[in-house]
Amino acid sequence: MSIITDTTILSLISKEVQLENIPKDLIIQMKKFNKGIGLSAIQLGVPLRIFRLRNPDLIFINPMLLKESRFCLCKESCISRPGIRVYKVRPTSLVVKAFNEKGELFYFIAEYIIARIISHELDHLNGIYLGME
Ligand SMILES: [Zn+2]
Repeated sequence: MSIITDTTILSLISKEVQLENIPKDLIIQMKKFNKGIGLSAIQLGVPLRIFRLRNPDLIFINPMLLKESRFCLCKESCISRPGIRVYKVRPTSLVVKAFNEKGELFYFIAEYIIARIISHELDHLNGIYLGME
């Protein structure tokens, strides 16, 4: 599998995952992928609401943003957008609710860089990519 850089695909809005049918092969592929600090399924060409955080190593399925606060302006990049570095407004703190790869609900509180990564991945699930405006 290779990383999608085609903005037509990146602009797709990803669909909810059916929890009784979690795509295990896709999740294995996402875990094998060792570039980048976060990865969304759409970056592998699959428009499903799944992203992976690399450190800590966690899979978020059907994530829902519950709260975000203390915004900052940060320069960021994306492995799907080589050569592009832009300033984005990101929360420095957020709370997200999601399902893990076993289909279990969990809540995750993130701060600083982790909050920024999650905010970036949530954008991917909604078809928003760096440099699109
Ligand atoms: Zn990205």
